[in-house]
Amino acid sequence: MRVLVTGGAGFIGSHLCDRFLRDGHEVVCVDNFLTGSRTNIAHLRAQSAFRLIEHDISKPLTLDGAIDAILHFASPASPIDYLKLPIQTLKVGSLGTLNGLGIAKAKQARFLLASTSEVYGDPSVHPQPESYWGHVNPVGPRGVYDEAKRFAEAITMAYHREHQVATRIVRIFNTYGPRMRMQDGRAIPAFITPALRGEPITVFGTGAQTRSFCYVDDLVEGIVRLLHSDHAEPMNLGNPEEYTILQLAQRIIEATGSKSRIVYQTLPQDDPKQRCPDITLATRTLQWQAATPLAAGLPKTIEWFRTAMGLASAAGARHG
Ligand code: NAD
Repeated sequence: MRVLVTGGAGFIGSHLCDRFLRDGHEVVCVDNFLTGSRTNIAHLRAQSAFRLIEHDISKPLTLDGAIDAILHFASPASPIDYLKLPIQTLKVGSLGTLNGLGIAKAKQARFLLASTSEVYGDPSVHPQPESYWGHVNPVGPRGVYDEAKRFAEAITMAYHREHQVATRIVRIFNTYGPRMRMQDGRAIPAFITPALRGEPITVFGTGAQTRSFCYVDDLVEGIVRLLHSDHAEPMNLGNPEEYTILQLAQRIIEATGSKSRIVYQTLPQDDPKQRCPDITLATRTLQWQAATPLAAGLPKTIEWFRTAMGLASAAGARHG
């Protein structure tokens, strides 16, 4: 297959590039480095099966040759990014998705949209099945991301219904792992970074709000299975193991052996109180479930952050 990954220099996108190359496919990565990094794909640049096109996918893109699958992952994804980049977030969710679908239609390629659990907003149903329509504030600060993704889902289904494009929509729940940015504001890097520096860890509200965390390798496996399935409508992928934010902070303090203390700040506007995927559909359709518990994924992620921050590895520190 020749696979186009938009946002391929981002956290999840770069792991997808790795996976498709490892499986023997050709990969075309389209990225404008808005929130991604050249470092994430530096190890791939020498491979002849890998091609980078530096381009803003919110603008039309013409590509030579066959494309068999498009995975549309380009979009600011962390709250810090999309609150700072509201219009670019709306553009890549709308125009970027439209451009990707145009390529899929022209090349008769499969189109897989990276959607998000944020389409459920601050949910009143728990855990969230795909049939739940969500509880989103369209004009609140987070609306730029949530509504961009809701529009992206709507236009993806329209291309499926009107142009018979083979579509897949993955509603990704919080995912973590190596290559997340230290400053991206999501809970795991936001806790690991100060924990490794011995600085205070900030928890919003009382920390009683819950989240679930999926290790990136598990997510990539689910995405590959979804792409090869014939399921056109949205599917949740995530790890249903649920933790309060306070429990997560405590786990990270333990796993890093840190002396950091926890400090509390006011909860941001429209911060969801609970977030947990119902993965019945993925389990039934793809025989998929997240295989990596937090206890196994956190140490790998912490080790990666140690290296990225130029700190001695835990093993090295123990022996040193
Ligand atoms: P990321 O910020 O690391 O990656 C996004 C990539 O898209 C970056 O490389 C960025 O430069 C690129 N990009 C942004 N706008 C672009 C544009 N207009 N043209 C070309 N490239 C552009 O984020 P991520 O965590 O890897 O998220 C990837 C996708 O998965 C996003 O669509 C996000 O909404 C979705 N998602 C992620 C999570 C998660 O937990 N990480 C959860 C739900 C959904």
